Amino acid sequence: MSVSEEDLVHLERAVALAREAASAGDGAFGSVLVDAAGVERFADRNRETTLGDETRHPEFEIARWAATNLTAPERALAVVYTSGEHCPMCSAAHAWVGLGRIVYAASSAQISAWRADVGLPASAVAALPITAVAPGLVVDGPVDRFADELRSLIVGTATAP
Ligand code: ZN
Repeated sequence: MSVSEEDLVHLERAVALAREAASAGDGAFGSVLVDAAGVERFADRNRETTLGDETRHPEFEIARWAATNLTAPERALAVVYTSGEHCPMCSAAHAWVGLGRIVYAASSAQISAWRADVGLPASAVAALPITAVAPGLVVDGPVDRFADELRSLIVGTATAP
């Protein structure tokens, strides 16, 4: 599936949440859950620093929220938009609760390369593609127009807006 104009609107929102996370000192990642009618139902951003819990990723929060608040058919038709490709923990959670398509702005491979370029250590968790963890998921990304801003946010060289 290709990335539509409507997809880009939701991705912009995910990137805005990533910006908010970076401003708060958290990892620069944001995600949005959109239902089959195109309505945003839940959104969050990384909160690992502010909450002192490295598992506080927005995609994981979305999976938990969806398990409680959506039916299985609603989950299957929902789309998750995220600024950075799901990590293995979040890919697994997404698949376990039966959520639908994922659209990401930056890939795990891009993010790993950006970190390595500026000498940051590799993540403690392998940067596997979503489909290496959950082969049945429908995934679109990366979307090049967001790459420069996300690179700056993630490796901490962003100039203040
Ligand atoms: Zn994650």
